[in-house]
Amino acid sequence: MAGSQADEAFRTEVRGWLEDALSGEFAGLRGSGGPGREHEVFEERLAWHRHLAAANWTCLGWPVEHGGRAATITQQVIFHEEYARANAPRSVNHLGEELLGPTLIEFGTPEQQARFLPKIKAVDELWCQGYSEPGAGSDLAAVSTSARLVDGEWSVTGQKVWTSLAHVADWCFVVARTEPGSTRHHGLSYLLVPMKQPGVEVRPIVQLTGTAEFNEVFFDDARTDESMVVGAVGDGWRVAMATLGFERGISTLANQIGFRRELGAVVDLAKETGAYDDPIVRDKLTRFRVRLDVMRAHAERTLASVTSGTPGTESSVAKLLWAHWHRELGELVMDVAGAPSMVEGPDGLDEWQRMFLFTRADTIYGGSDEVQRNIIAERTLGLPREARG
Ligand SMILES: Cc1cc2nc3c(=O)[nH]c(=O)nc-3n(C[C@H](O)[C@H](O)[C@H](O)COP(=O)(O)OP(=O)(O)OC[C@H]3O[C@@H](n4cnc5c(N)ncnc54)[C@H](O)[C@@H]3O)c2cc1C
Repeated sequence: MAGSQADEAFRTEVRGWLEDALSGEFAGLRGSGGPGREHEVFEERLAWHRHLAAANWTCLGWPVEHGGRAATITQQVIFHEEYARANAPRSVNHLGEELLGPTLIEFGTPEQQARFLPKIKAVDELWCQGYSEPGAGSDLAAVSTSARLVDGEWSVTGQKVWTSLAHVADWCFVVARTEPGSTRHHGLSYLLVPMKQPGVEVRPIVQLTGTAEFNEVFFDDARTDESMVVGAVGDGWRVAMATLGFERGISTLANQIGFRRELGAVVDLAKETGAYDDPIVRDKLTRFRVRLDVMRAHAERTLASVTSGTPGTESSVAKLLWAHWHRELGELVMDVAGAPSMVEGPDGLDEWQRMFLFTRADTIYGGSDEVQRNIIAERTLGLPREARG
């Protein structure tokens, strides 16, 4: 079958499967888990993702030998388009499927791959990302969480912060300093640490939305087996950067494709509230549509090349484009919803208010705006490196 015919057949298959699957017991999950609503129907969304996995619709881009379908970028785009079209629920397994899985495929030992990949694929184990610390965010090389070997196990001590989904995660991929006295990006290792143990305490951080999607995580002599280091001991920086490459690259695809539906919902809201008559709102909605196309074109042109290694400047451009688009959509939705959006209703925040509040974070997580601009300045424009501590 020619490429495009095969892709159209693939689209028909995805569409048909999603329609069936979202008509029965999962029908009520359509549209759940959007921005600022990640706490919604969590157990049900978990069951949905296990259902997807059982039908081989998770980890599409992974190689077949690791449980994926080796789907092309085009097929992955098609899958996410159909997923958004069906208004299927937001993923609960983004960190395992999109960040850690590809990292293990590239850097993990065969034992680590055999131990973890099937459970990520089946959504049997959930992961969180232990990078940021109170003193190490944009400046990740300032990590001070330490790990040392004790009787064949890593003993991990330190604090992580802003750890998304740590409260539901079974495991955490942790950047820790394993070489005492080392500084900056030297002497770090990338460890896989079980969360459900006495040495790990998770404390929720309440966000603007009133819910707690992220947490503080305290490691106090938390243990993991000596074999749970990804890449060489002391070479964790390289592995951590590769994970960031996945985070800023292909993994944003699902999100960006979902944006079209979000814009469509805002247009519908504008018709409902009458905000559509306001020339400024009309102008903005049109501009959002144009920017969406620009973003999409950039993503399609560059995502294929941004699959591993140190995150490239293309992924920084993409991050700036989508983060601003989405954060500003959150602002626009407040204009469109009008005065009632200024107050919380008797049932709490509505979906638009949640969207507005949660999208404030888009320009922070996955690397802040300023950090992306530094990368572009230094690597693309060749400007001198800024002074670093
Ligand atoms: C919703 C959300 C979810 C998150 N989930 C996770 C997670 O699961 N795991 C995890 O490890 N982390 C997570 N983070 C943390 C995120 O990666 C950090 O917040 C981010 O890297 C910024 O670090 P920081 O908060 O320490 O801010 P800082 O690094 O202290 O930055 C403060 C401000 O200074 C600016 N700045 C910093 N350095 C420079 C510089 N060199 N030049 C110019 N300006 C600079 C920044 O852009 C920012 O505006 C999450 C954050 C959010 C908001």
